[in-house]
Amino acid sequence: MNEVKSKEIVGRGTREGAAFFRDWFQDLTQKAEEGKTAAYVFVMGSIAEILRVFDLPMVFPEIHSLQTAIRHVADDFLNEAEDYGYSPDICGYVKADFALQMQNGHHPMGRIPKPRLAVLTNACNTYLKWGEIWERIYDIPMFSIDIPATREAGTRTWPGDEQFEREKKYVKVQLTELIELCEKITGKKFDIDRLREILGHVNTMSRGWKRVLELNQSKPSLFNALTDGTVYLGMSNVYRGTPEGAQFFDNLVEEMEYMSANGIGTLMDEKYRLSFIGVPCYPIFRRFNEMFSEWGGTFVMSTYLWFAAGGANLGSQYDLDNPLDSLAEGVLISVRDAMDSMFHPELTVLKQANEFNIDGVVYHPIKSCRTTSAGMADNRRALMENSDLPSLFIESDMMDSRVVSEAQMKNRIDAFFEGLASRRARDVVVGA
Ligand code: SF4
Repeated sequence: MNEVKSKEIVGRGTREGAAFFRDWFQDLTQKAEEGKTAAYVFVMGSIAEILRVFDLPMVFPEIHSLQTAIRHVADDFLNEAEDYGYSPDICGYVKADFALQMQNGHHPMGRIPKPRLAVLTNACNTYLKWGEIWERIYDIPMFSIDIPATREAGTRTWPGDEQFEREKKYVKVQLTELIELCEKITGKKFDIDRLREILGHVNTMSRGWKRVLELNQSKPSLFNALTDGTVYLGMSNVYRGTPEGAQFFDNLVEEMEYMSANGIGTLMDEKYRLSFIGVPCYPIFRRFNEMFSEWGGTFVMSTYLWFAAGGANLGSQYDLDNPLDSLAEGVLISVRDAMDSMFHPELTVLKQANEFNIDGVVYHPIKSCRTTSAGMADNRRALMENSDLPSLFIESDMMDSRVVSEAQMKNRIDAFFEGLASRRARDVVVGA
């Protein structure tokens, strides 16, 4: 193995991703300082494809909120929002963002411009109430796109089915209305060729994202789906539809293929391959992962990388000869998949457990997010009824450190690994 090449390639995705992220925040800061505005969007259906045609800068409030937790200042933001009357048990992302709006957009990573428009889907009902807050504060239009969802395990319709085609038309009409609104707001004419170009970049990114997720079947695993995966996920959202985003994912595929070919793993000594269900514990992001890696456990897959990528994990490709129709189809399939990934994570875990050599499943229900957490206990039961995969159920939050008890978590995690170890020892004896 060429040492120089190895040093240059391995870890490039996380290094470059972090740098791109800083650039993005810097750019937002500059816009805020110049008094410019942005479109506020969400990870499950940002519709970046259309907003980029109009050169509307995008702010992802979920991302700037979670960054306050990673930087250990979320509690100040949450307290401020609660002083205004927001309940302690609603989504912490909303509260951190509200406090940030009250502080004129000041954020530990820079400054966030005010909204000019909010675009959201029905993937999470909190999106709708969150958008109403900006509507009230700033008197801006809130454009909500209704995606017909299944919310029922296994019942799906696909292109060509009568119901799917009807639903696609319904989504397309809404996208056309969004285009009209963007024309009105920006004073620019819609340019279909520009849309085509953007869709081309999204195609490259989605293809790359799917391939990167698949490549983690390698033994040892190539990236940690909880830590490195979150950096890649940020890129898939923030740089969606850009040449930089497309190049990033091409490079990432190259990195993962190189690691796989040379047997390079993310952990020195990988003992247990885990699947993560839910949203990460951002207040103790690194420490949370260490409690697993100290036992040789690594997350090879995570539902977060499916639903928070807005369905990009499917690798769907837009038809550039038919951009608007294809965009409607892609939005319908991907946002619906994001919803199903939250409501029925066990389906994919069961399907992929063998391919990824999964030893155990970690459920992380959180106080803030009922959308991802409400059905988890039932979901775990379904997993147990349909497999003998061991699972761990640990509750905390993705923002609020007041409900994150590290010592308690560690006890449960240690007990989980002791169980995995004795199960493995038993299997060796039985096998012998
Ligand atoms: S409730 Fe959950 S899915 Fe909805 S915005 Fe909050 S964290 Fe995201």
